Amino acid sequence: MSPISSLCVYCGSSRGANPNFVPMATDLGRQMAERKIRLIYGGGRVGLMGACADGVMASGGEVIGIIPQHLQDREIGHSGLTELKVVDNMHTRKRMMFDLSDAFCVLPGGLGTLEELFEVVTWRQLGMHDKPIVVLNLDGYWDKLVGMIDGIIDDGFVQPSARQYFSVVNSIGRLFDILAAPPETQEPDHPERI
Ligand code: AMP
Repeated sequence: MSPISSLCVYCGSSRGANPNFVPMATDLGRQMAERKIRLIYGGGRVGLMGACADGVMASGGEVIGIIPQHLQDREIGHSGLTELKVVDNMHTRKRMMFDLSDAFCVLPGGLGTLEELFEVVTWRQLGMHDKPIVVLNLDGYWDKLVGMIDGIIDDGFVQPSARQYFSVVNSIGRLFDILAAPPETQEPDHPERI
């Protein structure tokens, strides 16, 4: 049994250029279902979002999608979920995704994914929560982001302690290792952490 029951996955509403990403997102969903971890996500049928949700549902797991009314057409609200909550606006969506989740995972994605990552990281920086945040750096997709944040730390705009607000891992297996380990047993300077 996993110590967490609900994992929020932030990821692209596109499929991305790397053909490995869709099967990886589906595989993450499958492994979540096997571990009885509920998926909380943005509710769309498109891109990596849809692939991850399909992976959970195809393996008998539970998915709660949360989508604002105005994005129902653009992101195509997924009709095959355990539950699709249609809300008034983006703020309600993101707050509900945050409240329903025990931890956050970030797959490859675009500007929306970045916005969601930085929101939960900065909320953690402000002491608003201590839920784990794990960036799944599939095929090195997030290397440039990690390098940029390291550079910003070197430039003195982010405290080095910010390295502990989130983890960066290269595989789905490592994601579940991090989620299984109580924070005090995690190595603060693990090379995969930033
Ligand atoms: P993207 O990574 O741009 O494909 O977006 C992934 C998800 O992030 C989509 O479901 C977007 O609706 C969502 N998202 C969250 N916050 C924002 C925002 N401020 N701007 C654009 N998309 C956002």
